[in-house]
Amino acid sequence: MSTDSFLTISDLSAGYGDARVLHGVNLSVGRGEICAILGPNGAGKTTLLRALSGAVWTRGSVRLDGAGLARRSPDAIARRGVAHVPEGRGTFMPLTVEENLRLGAFTRRGRGEVEADLDRIHGYFPVLKTRLRQVAGSLSGGEQQMLAIGRALMSRPRLLLLDEPSLGLAPLVTRELFRIVRTINEQERTTVVVVEQNAHLALDIAQQAHVLESGRIVLSGSADEIRADEQVAQSYLGYR
Ligand code: ATP
Repeated sequence: MSTDSFLTISDLSAGYGDARVLHGVNLSVGRGEICAILGPNGAGKTTLLRALSGAVWTRGSVRLDGAGLARRSPDAIARRGVAHVPEGRGTFMPLTVEENLRLGAFTRRGRGEVEADLDRIHGYFPVLKTRLRQVAGSLSGGEQQMLAIGRALMSRPRLLLLDEPSLGLAPLVTRELFRIVRTINEQERTTVVVVEQNAHLALDIAQQAHVLESGRIVLSGSADEIRADEQVAQSYLGYR
């Protein structure tokens, strides 16, 4: 674990109605780090991201740069610098690429800043610049994922939550997307928590990783330590 913890999750439980999915999760993410969350289907990975962005009930504590986030509204959490790119992307299909990007700036005010940020996003995702007037629903899967991340970046997040960014994408597109996520992390020092089935890719860009099973963290370590773990190799990396 990092000594300079930016995101600190302590004894976090979360769920839906009567169903408790997370059971006392503890983890911390250093400032500017990429943290990967691995685990089998139904382990609670998506629920963990939803708990961080205020979309499900929670007990326990979530602190971002020292400030408590738990049990705040999704809007208040977004205003504190958390951007969530959900599984399935969450772009507004009937709206154009440009409209989607501008919606991402809802926590911001200055018009000049928003225009500068549009340029910044086009720098990361040049393809979006060529598709500004196209409706999101007509983009390829990879372009939609880029749009979803671009929209999240419009809020200048301090913490970016990515849920299965590789879902349904061709391997080459996925690799390109992960390369861009690393570039964003390096250039903007954005802290990233990424939930990902493709453990190889996630461990390639992450410094820290955690394995979640049945709503509990069962293994934590550096990406190298997690990659070297016999059980992880068998279950998630497809060798040994
Ligand atoms: P996957 O890799 O399949 O996406 P996951 O690790 O992200 O799985 P979650 O989606 O967090 O797991 O689901 C954890 C548990 O919570 C599952 O048992 C699931 O059925 C349950 N669950 C998810 N969404 C809801 C909901 N809206 N209402 C009730 N239970 C839910």
